[in-house]
Amino acid sequence: MKIRVLGCSGAIARGCHTTSFLVGDSVLIDAGTGVGQLTLEEMARIDDVFLTHAHLDHIAALPLMLDAVAKWRQSPLRVRALPQTLDALRQHVFNDIIWPDFTRLPNPARPFVTLHPFACGDVVSCGPCQIEVLPADHAVPAVGFSVEGGQGAWVFSGDTCGHPAFWERIRQLPVKALVIETAFGEAEHELAVRSRHLSPTSLIEQLRHLGTQPAFPIHITHTKPSETADIAAQLQALEQQAEHPVGWPLTLQWLASGDEFEI
Ligand SMILES: [Zn+2]
Ligand SMILES: [Zn+2]
Repeated sequence: MKIRVLGCSGAIARGCHTTSFLVGDSVLIDAGTGVGQLTLEEMARIDDVFLTHAHLDHIAALPLMLDAVAKWRQSPLRVRALPQTLDALRQHVFNDIIWPDFTRLPNPARPFVTLHPFACGDVVSCGPCQIEVLPADHAVPAVGFSVEGGQGAWVFSGDTCGHPAFWERIRQLPVKALVIETAFGEAEHELAVRSRHLSPTSLIEQLRHLGTQPAFPIHITHTKPSETADIAAQLQALEQQAEHPVGWPLTLQWLASGDEFEI
């Protein structure tokens, strides 16, 4: 089963789209502006959207996508997230002010979208894959996900400053690839701490939880276009340190829109 990167940027610019991954044909993880990479036909095939959290860069395309494909769909789109994230959608998006209340339209018995809460540790079967909800620590309630197909687990940190239980679970899973954020450069390390994101040095601190050199690649995501070059240079400098603070040779990969994983 394929996972396709639709967007992995921390902000927008030409060619840069915010977080969204297409899992197989029918599942989305996050609904950032990357969703705009899909054709109408591809969008109409999506039955489930798993959200890491309520921040705009991860939900921006959800109301627009619903509007785009509403008349093509026979059944409601299922949105799955923490209860707090679903409450935020009800209060601040589908509130008949920012956007029509698609949880009650076109009629309450058969709406365009239904909302389904999950909790950390839950495993949801979705088509050919199983999606496990992993803990994250962010400015609002947030999670990461492990998507397990026949060939291993693809793990996404979501927005986070790191969570010990996330790493504990990673050490148990058959991880094939880890996608982890590094949203801020070192110049904004304090802002990263306050907004509960990672910077290059705090990423290294988190990777120490792996204990030994992992057998899977680590892909960096969620850099803002204006900071991507600085963050890349800072991570490269960290990779080249002789006495490596992480305890093993660090090799990182850069996630790009259009990348695909097979799991
Ligand atoms: Zn966020
Ligand atoms: Zn974000």
